[in-house]
Amino acid sequence: MTLEKCQCGQNYEHHSGPTHAFLGASAGCWKAYGQVLALEYKDPKRWEGHRYTVDAYACQHPGRCEPRTIESINLHLVSLCLVLERGMSTDFATQNAIRIPNELNPRWIEPPTSFGSIGIADLLRVQNSEEHLKLSREYAREVWQSWGRSHALIHKYCDWICDSVASTRPKDLS
Ligand SMILES: [Zn+2]
Repeated sequence: MTLEKCQCGQNYEHHSGPTHAFLGASAGCWKAYGQVLALEYKDPKRWEGHRYTVDAYACQHPGRCEPRTIESINLHLVSLCLVLERGMSTDFATQNAIRIPNELNPRWIEPPTSFGSIGIADLLRVQNSEEHLKLSREYAREVWQSWGRSHALIHKYCDWICDSVASTRPKDLS
């Protein structure tokens, strides 16, 4: 069995299956991600961890600098920050992480050299839905921490998003 090191830092069996168009995932890692998503789609409890899984995975596989990866990495880091630091719901993150305005000039963020100890395949080894949800949160937290050098920049985007949402909300009339 030949192992191949993925951008996330984990080793997966080498194979020639499909990969994502621009995320930096190896075919072995991408296959494991598909298996995790399949579990989340059919189990409401695991589904609660879906936002964590998707954002953590994307941030562990930022790919290389190009327009679509710039958009992707900024969106997924903002989503992690909104949920983990700002206490926003995963629905709020899904709806608003895409709203980084051009005037803030989102750019390529140089990835860290390590993305934490948890890999996507660890989610295939848990015993039940509760453990899946718990580990997906830890996974998100670890990956967010690994991007620590970029937190100040991402906070700026989150501030803008939260301010703009607050300013469009109807005023409290009481
Ligand atoms: Zn990987």
